Formats: sequence, C-alpha cells, structure tokens
Amino acid sequence: MRVEVVAVGTELLLGQILNTNAAWLGAELAAAGMDAEYQSVVGDNVERIALVFRGALARSDAVVACGGLGPTQDDCTREAVAAMLNIPLKRDEAVLDVIRSRFQRAGRPMPESNARQADVPEGARVIPQTMGTAPGLCIPVGEKALYLLPGPPAELHDMWERAVAPELRQRAAARGETASISSRVLRTWGLSESALAERLADRFRALEEAGGNPSIAFLASGIEGIKVRITAKGATEGEALSLLEAEEARVRELLGPAVFGVDGETIAEVVGRLLVERGFRLGVAESLTGGMVASYLVNVPGASAWFTGGVVAYDARVKRDLLGVPDGPVVSEDAALAMAAGACRLLGSEVGLGLTGVAGPDAGEGNPPGTVYVAAWGPLHEGQESGEGGDARLLHLPGGRQQVRELATISALDLLRRRLDSQVASRRR
Ligand code: AMP
Ligand code: MG
Repeated sequence: MRVEVVAVGTELLLGQILNTNAAWLGAELAAAGMDAEYQSVVGDNVERIALVFRGALARSDAVVACGGLGPTQDDCTREAVAAMLNIPLKRDEAVLDVIRSRFQRAGRPMPESNARQADVPEGARVIPQTMGTAPGLCIPVGEKALYLLPGPPAELHDMWERAVAPELRQRAAARGETASISSRVLRTWGLSESALAERLADRFRALEEAGGNPSIAFLASGIEGIKVRITAKGATEGEALSLLEAEEARVRELLGPAVFGVDGETIAEVVGRLLVERGFRLGVAESLTGGMVASYLVNVPGASAWFTGGVVAYDARVKRDLLGVPDGPVVSEDAALAMAAGACRLLGSEVGLGLTGVAGPDAGEGNPPGTVYVAAWGPLHEGQESGEGGDARLLHLPGGRQQVRELATISALDLLRRRLDSQVASRRR
C-alpha cells in the first residue's frame, strides 16, 4: 500500500524548523510495511496545500499530513481540504467542549481563535485529542484516506500510534497486502564513493531490472564513512529478513574488507570488539590529532578493558625522547611506525597506533596540508621488541584542519581494524 507524507508549514520551507515529523513518519511507514514513494513540504496556503493533497491522493492509497491545524490564522490545512473536496466545515460541538474544558482546567478562558480547531470537514472522522487542543482528522476520499495530524511531534506520535498506524495496517490487510520492510546499513571506510559504486554497479543494475526488491542505496556521510543501505520487502518479517540477509552477503562479498560495521556501529566500537576478541590492549601515540584518537576510543563504553592510554607527542623532541622516533623527518612512515611501537612499550599494550602529519593550513617539513602517516604496530608479545612489525599508510587528506584531523583519526582506527581482522589471534592474554 502506497502512503505518502505531506508536511504543512511555511516555517519548514524557510528552514526555521527541521522537518523531523517527515523523518519520523518515514521510519514508521517502513516499519509498518507501507511503500512511501513521495514526501512533500508545502507552505501555509489554501490553494497550494489543496494542490499538493490532490497530487498525493492521485498517486497514493493514503496521505498522512501534519501541521497547519493550529488556532492561528496562518494554519489552514482544514480549510484547504474543505476547498479541495468542495465540502463545508462544520463546527463540532463535542470537539469544542473538549477544547473548552482543557482551557478551563488550566484556569484560562478559551480564546475565540481556538474554536476554529473544532471545525470538521463534513464526512470526516475525528481522532480525539489527548494531549494538545487540535484533534486529528480522517477524511475518506473515495476508497482512499487523508489523515490530518497536528504538527507538534508528541501529539503527532500519539495520534499516529493510537489511530493512524493501526488503521493503515487494517487497510493493507483488507487489500491482502500485509508486508514487512527491513533495512540494514553497511558501514564502509577506505573506498571512494565512485569506487564503491563501481563495485556494486552490476548488482545494482540487476536488482533494478528484477523489480527493485531488495534494493541498495548509497549515502556518503563524512567521517561516518560511506553507508550502503539494503532494503528488502517480504510478505512476513521473516521473509523480508531472509531476502535482506542474502543480499547483505552478496554486497559484503563485493565490498570485501571495506565494510567495517552495520547500522549505528562506529569504527571505534568495532576496534574495541576486535581487541576484546583477540585479547589485546591498545595504546596510541598522536601528533596532529592531539588526543582525538584517544577521545574517540574512550567514547566506547567499557574501553578500559582494551585501551591502556595515549601520548600526545606534538613536539619533535617529545617524539624522539619519549617514543624513540629516529632522527630524520617526523612526517614520515618511519616516524609513524616508531610512534606506534613506542606507544606499545611505553603504555604496556600489545598493539599501538601512531599518527603524524600536517593538519594545515600551513605546510610542514615541505609537505602540503593533509599529508598524514598512520601506523599500526603489533601485536607485541611478552619479551619481544618488535613483535610482528607494523603497517603504515601515507594519506593525502582533503579539507581544513579539523577535517584532516578527523579523517586521520578514522583512517588510523581503520588501519588497525584491517590489521586485526587479517590476523589470527596468535596468543590470548
Ligand atoms: P502547526 O500545527 O503547523 O501550527 O505546528 C505547530 C508546531 O509543531 C510548530 O510550531 C512546530 O514546532 C511543530 N511542527 C510542525 N510541523 C513540524 C514538522 N514537520 N516537523 C517537526 N515539527 C513540526
Ligand atoms: Mg503552522
């Protein structure tokens, strides 16, 4: 069943408030197994609201609108519906009593303007108000339905759960369309958006040609990496999930180690989990990130089990004296590796990370801003000086100082994740 959302309010168009109702309703519709193919935003204007509603009703089986039910003159969703369907608005005395008694309880007289909230288009069903003053309305339009809900999120959520979602489910069931939609986000790091799209191009096309179920979509999310969302629809939740999981396996095979996690998982959480599984602890030595890596790590609950500590080695002398970085350029692969190894020794950890580079805006040691070396060292076993050596990467990171430091942080964690992933735990603590 196709259901679309229309958010009403000039303030939304002006960017004065964020359209969180549409996002919330989108997620709810998916969970209820509805197809949501369109969302619209329209200002507080009778003709334009009517125009958007007309279009929405023409292509969908139900329309859920929010906003424009307030007591002030600018709120005109009711009037727009009456005009569109050419039906009169009638003041509903029962609704008016509820509004009046709300004000009475608050010890205030009801302003005359609030009486407008009791105006009901003829033939509409009232969804009683339990929180605010405006009731919701369900307006039948032929076989279809138009729901008008209040803008304040708490009132909207209440009416949606109490009245609208159950009714939409019933309508879908009556059409023999009980369906469930499941989706999962694969989080990736290390592939550019175009490289990722290229790897998935054939699969993407094949899915489209087969009708778009399951479907895949990309979302570049800055330091959260590039997300690949897989969505599948089935007659039951179990069917949707098995389609989803089969597709996930295919996509993972195409993307390989670029996938670091699913849904809300962060790369720091993944690193923490791998460290726990392998029985290693991590120490970090940071130059340009100045403690950012450590900060990301301690954001993870329970980090004390696998994170021993960090050293901010900003000055070249600190890098040499404290961490044993050899003479020579400190923006170099050797320096990053020595920092990672030094972190292990100094902080008593089996694995270490080292980061050195140029955050900008000025060049450093002749390197342009964004030149960064990250290194992962270890695991270092008891009594060993060098353990199993390390990996280092030279990065050319884009953006300003803050972005370079954030990208360096995630890239270092990703390097360690890949190293831990590719190594069989050779020893448990
Ligand atoms: P309205 O019913 O249009 O007068 O909206 C009342 C209040 O609800 C607004 O002032 C906003 O705070 C909130 N609101 C309205 N529409 C939305 C929306 N699409 N997303 C989030 N909040 C909204
Ligand atoms: Mg409004």
